[in-house]
Amino acid sequence: MAYVYDDQNIFAKILRGEIPNDTVLETEHTLAFRDIQPQAPVHVLVIPKGPYVCYDHFAQAASDAEIVDFTRAVGQICKSEGLQEGGYRVISNAGDAGVQEVPHLHLHVLGGRGLGRMLQPAS
Ligand code: 5GP
Repeated sequence: MAYVYDDQNIFAKILRGEIPNDTVLETEHTLAFRDIQPQAPVHVLVIPKGPYVCYDHFAQAASDAEIVDFTRAVGQICKSEGLQEGGYRVISNAGDAGVQEVPHLHLHVLGGRGLGRMLQPAS
Protein backbone atom coordinates (compact mmCIF):
# COMPACT_ATOMS: atom_id res chain seq x y z
CA MET A 1 0.00 0.00 0.00
CA ALA A 2 1.23 3.52 -0.80
CA TYR A 3 0.93 5.82 2.19
CA VAL A 4 0.10 9.43 1.37
CA TYR A 5 1.00 11.90 4.10
CA ASP A 6 -0.99 15.15 4.29
CA ASP A 7 1.31 17.78 5.77
CA GLN A 8 -1.66 20.04 6.55
CA ASN A 9 -2.92 17.74 9.31
CA ILE A 10 -3.19 19.26 12.77
CA PHE A 11 -0.26 17.34 14.26
CA ALA A 12 2.02 18.42 11.40
CA LYS A 13 1.05 21.99 12.29
CA ILE A 14 1.86 21.32 15.96
CA LEU A 15 5.25 19.92 14.96
CA ARG A 16 5.97 23.05 12.89
CA GLY A 17 5.02 25.24 15.86
CA GLU A 18 2.00 26.72 14.04
CA ILE A 19 -0.41 25.52 16.76
CA PRO A 20 0.44 25.49 20.49
CA ASN A 21 0.52 22.31 22.53
CA ASP A 22 0.97 21.26 26.14
CA THR A 23 4.22 19.32 25.78
CA VAL A 24 4.93 16.43 28.13
CA LEU A 25 8.14 15.21 26.50
CA GLU A 26 10.24 16.07 23.47
CA THR A 27 13.10 13.96 22.19
CA GLU A 28 15.08 13.88 18.95
CA HIS A 29 12.40 11.96 17.04
CA THR A 30 9.29 12.17 19.22
CA LEU A 31 6.86 14.71 20.67
CA ALA A 32 4.32 13.97 23.42
CA PHE A 33 1.60 16.41 24.45
CA ARG A 34 -1.74 16.42 26.26
CA ASP A 35 -4.89 15.67 24.27
CA ILE A 36 -7.07 18.76 23.84
CA GLN A 37 -10.17 16.70 24.79
CA PRO A 38 -8.88 14.30 27.45
CA GLN A 39 -10.80 11.06 27.91
CA ALA A 40 -9.08 10.25 31.21
CA PRO A 41 -7.14 12.14 33.92
CA VAL A 42 -4.00 11.29 31.95
CA HIS A 43 -4.41 11.45 28.17
CA VAL A 44 -1.14 12.03 26.35
CA LEU A 45 -0.63 11.80 22.59
CA VAL A 46 2.77 10.51 21.47
CA ILE A 47 3.78 11.25 17.89
CA PRO A 48 6.88 10.68 15.82
CA LYS A 49 8.33 13.83 14.28
CA GLY A 50 8.60 12.08 10.92
CA PRO A 51 5.75 12.04 8.35
CA TYR A 52 4.07 8.74 9.15
CA VAL A 53 0.34 8.26 8.63
CA CYS A 54 -0.31 5.36 10.99
CA TYR A 55 1.34 2.67 13.07
CA ASP A 56 1.97 0.16 10.29
CA HIS A 57 3.46 2.90 8.09
CA PHE A 58 5.86 3.82 10.90
CA ALA A 59 6.69 0.20 11.68
CA GLN A 60 7.61 -0.44 8.05
CA ALA A 61 9.27 2.82 7.03
CA ALA A 62 10.82 4.46 10.09
CA SER A 63 14.49 4.07 10.94
CA ASP A 64 15.62 1.95 13.88
CA ALA A 65 16.61 5.17 15.67
CA GLU A 66 13.11 6.62 15.28
CA ILE A 67 11.45 3.42 16.47
CA VAL A 68 13.68 3.09 19.50
CA ASP A 69 13.26 6.77 20.40
CA PHE A 70 9.45 6.56 20.05
CA THR A 71 9.18 3.38 22.09
CA ARG A 72 11.44 4.68 24.85
CA ALA A 73 9.43 7.90 24.97
CA VAL A 74 6.26 5.92 25.74
CA GLY A 75 8.07 4.22 28.60
CA GLN A 76 9.27 7.55 29.97
CA ILE A 77 5.76 8.99 29.82
CA CYS A 78 4.23 6.02 31.68
CA LYS A 79 6.82 6.64 34.38
CA SER A 80 6.62 10.44 34.53
CA GLU A 81 2.79 10.42 34.50
CA GLY A 82 2.70 7.91 37.37
CA LEU A 83 0.89 5.22 35.38
CA GLN A 84 3.00 2.17 36.15
CA GLU A 85 1.36 1.22 39.43
CA GLY A 86 -2.31 1.80 38.58
CA GLY A 87 -2.09 0.68 34.97
CA TYR A 88 -2.84 2.37 31.69
CA ARG A 89 -3.88 1.80 28.08
CA VAL A 90 -2.07 2.59 24.84
CA ILE A 91 -4.24 2.91 21.72
CA SER A 92 -3.45 3.79 18.12
CA ASN A 93 -6.40 4.27 15.81
CA ALA A 94 -5.79 3.75 12.09
CA GLY A 95 -7.87 4.33 9.01
CA ASP A 96 -11.61 4.08 8.62
CA ALA A 97 -12.22 1.00 10.78
CA GLY A 98 -10.06 2.46 13.54
CA VAL A 99 -11.82 5.83 13.25
CA GLN A 100 -8.57 7.76 12.92
CA GLU A 101 -9.30 11.48 13.03
CA VAL A 102 -5.80 12.90 12.55
CA PRO A 103 -3.72 11.25 9.79
CA HIS A 104 -0.37 11.47 11.58
CA LEU A 105 0.57 8.46 13.71
CA HIS A 106 -0.23 8.99 17.36
CA LEU A 107 -0.46 6.75 20.38
CA HIS A 108 -3.03 7.65 23.00
CA VAL A 109 -1.61 6.95 26.47
CA LEU A 110 -4.53 6.88 28.89
CA GLY A 111 -4.69 6.36 32.62
CA GLY A 112 -5.45 7.81 36.01
CA ARG A 113 -8.75 5.98 36.40
CA GLY A 114 -10.28 2.58 35.66
CA LEU A 115 -10.69 2.46 31.89
CA GLY A 116 -13.21 -0.36 31.52
CA ARG A 117 -13.02 -3.02 28.88
CA MET A 118 -11.23 -2.08 25.68
CA LEU A 119 -14.04 -2.94 23.25
CA GLN A 120 -17.66 -3.91 23.45
CA PRO A 121 -18.34 -7.50 22.35
CA ALA A 122 -19.25 -7.73 18.66
CA SER A 123 -22.98 -8.03 18.15
P1 5GP B 1 -7.75 9.89 16.67
O1 5GP B 1 -9.24 9.76 16.61
O2 5GP B 1 -7.16 10.37 15.36
O3 5GP B 1 -7.09 8.65 17.19
O4 5GP B 1 -7.47 10.97 17.78
C1 5GP B 1 -7.13 12.29 17.54
C2 5GP B 1 -7.00 12.98 18.88
O5 5GP B 1 -6.42 14.25 18.67
C3 5GP B 1 -8.33 13.22 19.60
O6 5GP B 1 -8.29 12.59 20.88
C4 5GP B 1 -8.41 14.74 19.70
O7 5GP B 1 -8.97 15.18 20.91
C5 5GP B 1 -6.97 15.17 19.57
N1 5GP B 1 -6.77 16.49 18.98
C6 5GP B 1 -7.35 16.97 17.83
N2 5GP B 1 -6.91 18.22 17.60
C7 5GP B 1 -6.03 18.52 18.58
C8 5GP B 1 -5.23 19.67 18.85
O8 5GP B 1 -5.25 20.67 18.15
N3 5GP B 1 -4.43 19.61 19.96
C9 5GP B 1 -4.38 18.51 20.77
N4 5GP B 1 -3.56 18.57 21.83
N5 5GP B 1 -5.12 17.41 20.53
C10 5GP B 1 -5.94 17.42 19.45
